[in-house]
Amino acid sequence: MYSQIRQQLDQEDVTLVAVSKTKPNHQILKMYEQGQRIFGENKVQELVDKYETLPKDIEWHFIGHLQRNKVKYIAPFISLLHGVDSLRLLKEVNKRAQQNDRKIACLLQFHIAEEDTKFGLDWEEAKAILESEIFKTMEHIEIQGVMGMATYTDDETQVRKEFQRLKTFFNQLREQYFPAQPSFKEVSMGMSGDYEMAIAEGSTIVRIGTLLFGQR
Ligand SMILES: *Cc1c(COP(=O)(O)O)cnc(C)c1O
Repeated sequence: MYSQIRQQLDQEDVTLVAVSKTKPNHQILKMYEQGQRIFGENKVQELVDKYETLPKDIEWHFIGHLQRNKVKYIAPFISLLHGVDSLRLLKEVNKRAQQNDRKIACLLQFHIAEEDTKFGLDWEEAKAILESEIFKTMEHIEIQGVMGMATYTDDETQVRKEFQRLKTFFNQLREQYFPAQPSFKEVSMGMSGDYEMAIAEGSTIVRIGTLLFGQR
């Protein structure tokens, strides 16, 4: 399964985040040995444990909702934070990145699903963050794009519409706030059940767990 998906994504030039949450190290290592280097986790403690025991050339992505008081544990090594959805969180990330003498790459998470249980910004909130004075002083973060999760439904029309909204947010942000920043280029959308549609709608990063590792 891994090599098939990997081949398909390579052809489309889409980055694969292998979502390894709840999965044991030996399963992660097996995929590592097949060439996978990017893994995604959504719990800080689990991520830190895996970081400490698995090969150091793994790029770890944090894909869940990150609490501010836990940023410090992953700040030394995290490659990409997918779920940034507040200025307060960004401030903390900037501070911890500075302490570690590095820049941390972040994606702004947008609320695109119908369910109101899912985290994320709307357009006005994102705009408020990016236009704030404090944001302009943050030298240790790099916003590289956007992330979103579609509604969990069989209704393909709805899911497609939600992906299109995220892509539109991305285009608008790039034009208005990041025209001179080539690294603002990522649209993280698509999971096991909807990644092909996400790619058709312009995804650059897919986050796939179940399809690669089996049910959790
Ligand atoms: C668990 C998770 C995924 C992977 O979901 P699958 O359906 O198992 O592919 C993707 N994104 C986020 C944010 C997740 O929490």
